[in-house]
Amino acid sequence: MSFVHVYRRALGLLRAERGLAIVLGLANLALAGLAFVEPLLFGRIIDLLATGEGRPPGERWTASLEVMVLWAGIGCLTIAANILVALHADRLAHRRRLAEMARYFEHVLNLSLAFHGRHHSGRLLKVLIQGTDHLFGLWLAFFREHLATLIGLVLLLPLSLFLEWRLGLLLVCLLPVFAVLTALVIARAQHDQGVVEEYHTDLAARASDALGNVTLLQSFTRLQAEAAELRLMMARVLAAQLPVLNWWAMVTVISRMAGTVTLVAIFLLGTWLNIQGIVSIGEIVTFAGFATLLIGKLDHTMGFVNSLFFQKPALEQFFDVVDQQASVSDRPGAEDLGRARGAVRFEDVSFSYGDGTPAVAHVSFGAEPGETVALVGQTGAGKSTTLALLLRLHDPESGRITVDGRAIADLTLDSLRRNIGVVFQDSNLLHRSIADNLRLGRPDASVAEMIAAARLAEAHDFIQRSAQGYDTLVGERGQSLSGGERQRLSIARALLKNPPILILDEATSALDSATESLVQKALASLMRARTTFVIAHRLSTVRHADQILVFKEGRIVERGTFRVLMDKRGYFAELVETQLEPAEAGLSRQGR
Ligand code: ADP
Repeated sequence: MSFVHVYRRALGLLRAERGLAIVLGLANLALAGLAFVEPLLFGRIIDLLATGEGRPPGERWTASLEVMVLWAGIGCLTIAANILVALHADRLAHRRRLAEMARYFEHVLNLSLAFHGRHHSGRLLKVLIQGTDHLFGLWLAFFREHLATLIGLVLLLPLSLFLEWRLGLLLVCLLPVFAVLTALVIARAQHDQGVVEEYHTDLAARASDALGNVTLLQSFTRLQAEAAELRLMMARVLAAQLPVLNWWAMVTVISRMAGTVTLVAIFLLGTWLNIQGIVSIGEIVTFAGFATLLIGKLDHTMGFVNSLFFQKPALEQFFDVVDQQASVSDRPGAEDLGRARGAVRFEDVSFSYGDGTPAVAHVSFGAEPGETVALVGQTGAGKSTTLALLLRLHDPESGRITVDGRAIADLTLDSLRRNIGVVFQDSNLLHRSIADNLRLGRPDASVAEMIAAARLAEAHDFIQRSAQGYDTLVGERGQSLSGGERQRLSIARALLKNPPILILDEATSALDSATESLVQKALASLMRARTTFVIAHRLSTVRHADQILVFKEGRIVERGTFRVLMDKRGYFAELVETQLEPAEAGLSRQGR
């Protein structure tokens, strides 16, 4: 993205409050115009004083007072416009910043899991905060300075030529010096600043990754090493930043020099022209005023270009995220599913993550309401992807998935996902109270309903024993709870949501047998009368399934009940012996 592009895009975000933005812009234009009049009035007064010696005092007073009254009037207008800008520009910028934050947040939450797999949450948070901060600063500067500066430059230079072309020409010479210098530095340092920004973002991702895994780092005594690596990354940021700063320092020095040189030149040329009788003292003062104004404006421009230069990479990162397309969204005219009965059908469904190899290939199966379907197979065989397709986390490349005979692609995402409960293997919990976590799928559930779900999930007792009962905070990702407790909470959460379709990703990690039996009891309550898809790691689960789908390299290679598949002595039987709880498999073989 070019400078102009980033700038235009940032200003374009003000479109939502276009009316106010235009009023503020006009107030700024008025300010810019009024700023010109001051040097003119100043020069006029000097001339009145310098040439009025021979005239009667009354006449001199009247002439001076006229100028003063005009000046006071302009001062009042300036104050009024300034108040308008100062009050409303800040409010507008604050409002838009929060609105952009909300929009970014909602957008990022909607992006595909593949996107989130590639981008660390720390990075996304840094891009959000820095991007909206820079937008805020840019909008404010636009209303307070940019417009006035631009108009100042566009009007001031021709006006000065018109007043006295020889002195005006001196001012006109200043502009190219600034423009060329700025362009040179931007061309030289733009790429380097992009690299610095990438380093900064890496740093944020790394730091947040470490902060999110404090237990791991402490238990592996990695604290010092992590801190050292972070310091190393910081040193790299600094090493990349310093050369860029040198360039800018040079430009600042040269531009200040150009300002002083021009001012001195105006007085030199002005003195000579005055001696020749071509210009008055007042005109020289007016020009000196113009020059100071101009130098100020150019300084502002440099300051703005400088800050946009440093902010551009972060703004680009922000717009990059905003431009990411959500891979799945509602089709025009998408229908509400209502409450489904729970009949699910996959018809020749294929999907790949874009690397060419299909993660799921030609998968077809059906589940009647209330049935339990177990998906088994080695890691990477395509089980999770198949169920992700049912949730529409991705859309299949070919084939069709239906719920109650209706293609899920034609349903609203909300209504589809309202009908599906998910119990993840790692029992994702938010850093909120137990009650908030339970109510995630049904925020309006009553306390009685919540407690009933917790009881069914064998979670009520341990919740009651917690310090603040249902109001106890669970810690980041549920850290303050045990594995079995987390699982039962996520089962209770699914029970409260009460969906007709259920996706269970069975935990692979072993629980002690008492906890295990509690979890199994909870699961049995949850699965009752729901169409359930289980990514199964336990023999007990597959044994009781109505149907077992055996996945291998994205395809279903065998299907049937446990007995049919075991009798077949094929791939499934092999899996049972080697993968699904080997100890239990051994026992089952002996028992047969
Ligand atoms: P399973 O659940 O059986 O372990 P998955 O459905 O997770 O298998 O994976 C199927 C295939 O898709 C694997 O080759 C895996 O590497 C690939 N895969 C899974 N998730 C992603 C992803 N987010 N991006 C790219 N490839 C993925």
